[in-house]
Amino acid sequence: MINRRKFISASAVSSLAALIGKKAWASEAPAIVKGKPVVISTWDAGLAANKGAWEILGKSGRALDAVEAGVRVTEDSLNCCVGLGANPDRDGFVTLDACIMDENFNCGSVAFLERIKHPISVARRVMEKTPHVMLVGSGAQQFAVAEGFPLEEQKLSLDAQRSYEEWLKKSEYKPVINIENKGNASTSFAPAKLANGEWNHDTIGMVAMDANGNLSGSCTTSGMGFKMRGRLGDSPIIGAGLYVDNEVGACTATGQGEDVIRVSGSHTVVELMRQGLSPEAACKKAIERIVRIKKDKIKDIQVAFLALNKKGQVGAFAIHKGFSYAIKSNDVEKLVNAKSWTS
Ligand code: ASP
Repeated sequence: MINRRKFISASAVSSLAALIGKKAWASEAPAIVKGKPVVISTWDAGLAANKGAWEILGKSGRALDAVEAGVRVTEDSLNCCVGLGANPDRDGFVTLDACIMDENFNCGSVAFLERIKHPISVARRVMEKTPHVMLVGSGAQQFAVAEGFPLEEQKLSLDAQRSYEEWLKKSEYKPVINIENKGNASTSFAPAKLANGEWNHDTIGMVAMDANGNLSGSCTTSGMGFKMRGRLGDSPIIGAGLYVDNEVGACTATGQGEDVIRVSGSHTVVELMRQGLSPEAACKKAIERIVRIKKDKIKDIQVAFLALNKKGQVGAFAIHKGFSYAIKSNDVEKLVNAKSWTS
């Protein structure tokens, strides 16, 4: 079982100079997808989420409906890193963030939302039923309840309770994100959990192209485990955690949200694809930008981008080894290990 901290110390990453120019870790050949539709999503939980999306895409449904349905599967699972079963903030409350974007630049987002099971669907209602893009906190909750979403009990899942109690012993505020535990990655649809009870990642991002060639995307998260109360990452921010331009492509991000926001990550990747880069090359260039900004500090963070272009080509790139994404099309259904800066 490898976790990211162990991996990093083993890899002896010492300077930016050592990183730049270093050959990226070659994992697997990029998945070649023939035709439409196609859906891709972050991490191992993406396999189950893609199946949910395929219920719609496989019947020639709209990408927007598919990306909502897909990540609802992950939000539904109480044993997961996303949704109400996830780790709480450092005050013991689960707060959720999500956003969604369609093929016409319509977008909606909720952040710091409590006690609502499906933030992604509330984000969609914000997009469709308000003149706004983003609602946060108690206002987002009030809107959700007015829209008929049930207010769930304020209660941690058993696993989250256990890991919170463990965390409280030291109450160390040291955000650790996306610890890759690949021990059971290929055998389990559920996200892996570390021995200390922490989930290995906290987000699912999904982008899809439907049979008509239209793109949409969704992103939903509990954010960083034991985060400061009120902290938001990239996931609910259009342009950071998610971006869709139906003429070009779509991208979603996972990892240390602060560093994704800094470079407007998903929007940057889409703009790089507009300039002609393949999805993988665009993701790599955006990661490179973060590597240059963070210098030696990249050993403390993980960021990954996952993108799909208008031709249906898929690509991803991460700072560190261990980021996986799930892909589903008419002829492919698998988990792919993305390439990364460090090996
Ligand atoms: N990007 C998310 C955040 O910063 C976390 C994650 O991707 O696991 O909140």
